[in-house]
Amino acid sequence: MRALLIEKDDQGYRAAVQNVDEANLPAGDVTVEVAYSTLNYKDALAITGKGPVVRQFPMVPGIDLAGRVTQSDSPDFKPGDEVILNGFGVGELHWGGLAGKARVKSEWLIPLPKAFSARQAMVIGTAGYTAMLCVMALEQHGVTPERGEVLVTGAAGGVGSVAIALLAKRGFTVVASSGRSEEAEYLRTLGAAEVLDRSILSEPGKPLQKERWAGVVDAVGSHTLANACASTRYGGVVTACGLAQGMDFSATVAPFILRGVTLAGIDSVYCPREKRLQAWDLLARELDPKLLELVAREISLEEAVAVSGELLQGKVRGRIVVDVTR
Ligand code: NAP
Repeated sequence: MRALLIEKDDQGYRAAVQNVDEANLPAGDVTVEVAYSTLNYKDALAITGKGPVVRQFPMVPGIDLAGRVTQSDSPDFKPGDEVILNGFGVGELHWGGLAGKARVKSEWLIPLPKAFSARQAMVIGTAGYTAMLCVMALEQHGVTPERGEVLVTGAAGGVGSVAIALLAKRGFTVVASSGRSEEAEYLRTLGAAEVLDRSILSEPGKPLQKERWAGVVDAVGSHTLANACASTRYGGVVTACGLAQGMDFSATVAPFILRGVTLAGIDSVYCPREKRLQAWDLLARELDPKLLELVAREISLEEAVAVSGELLQGKVRGRIVVDVTR
């Protein structure tokens, strides 16, 4: 099978497409013929070696995959079943989706939602499913469209793009924070009512600022997250899922103890199965397939290394879907 393989040894850290013997696939009770995978921020860190994502070498990256079961020792899946996988350490500790085949644990798989093709599910991928988890958390904590505006940071990226579309569909007034003014029209087409320059949020700010946001979806971390908390309204909710600006978080407790702001952490990797199924069910019902095409850019397996560099430089708009057969 063809696979993108990451190796690390005396000659350094490198990723390249290679022919790999299927006998080298890791242990698992289900084998999947992969149709599409994706490039998320984490995949780009893994492929370039810019972040400590890969914890075992050699590694096939790809935290997402969609494909068809070819062999199964599990009563839950049979050959021919269409499945998807997001996270569970796949592409970090266990060979992932950027390959012709993957052998995985059945409990990591969920059926491909009927509303989506394998390609559409991978346009959504971990980034889109995480956006859904953020929206679910906002609503679980009582944020409703009547409460006021919702801020989405890292707006032109994968999580941000899908979050805007989902929030707008639910009737929220969405304010998108982006460093790319040239993407303002794209962000408005997805459903943003207003586009802010991200520099407003990305520098160190005061512990308490003018109250504006009823809710926040933050994919950026660092000062952006601190400023988002500081400008969230009384009783508002901030969902933190990313670190595109940085992992640091220099903030004070003021927004939490004086305005009752809730900071909700979002993890997609080990999110329990029931919540995953709920998130994918909501995505199937609420995401406009036309917007998915606007968000998507398709690449081949061969292009994945070069595009990972672009993604980390913040040059990729929306979502990258990878046709692993090319
Ligand atoms: P992405 O497509 O690369 O989007 C990230 C966006 O962040 C960029 O498009 C850019 O948006 C903005 N950005 C980049 N560098 C920045 C900087 N220095 N300062 C401020 N903003 C910056 O990545 P993604 O796949 O959406 O993932 C976004 C983040 O969420 C990543 O940190 C990823 O690891 C994390 N994530 C976490 C989970 C989880 O389970 N918690 C799941 C998925 C993703 P603009 O150009 O619009 O400014």
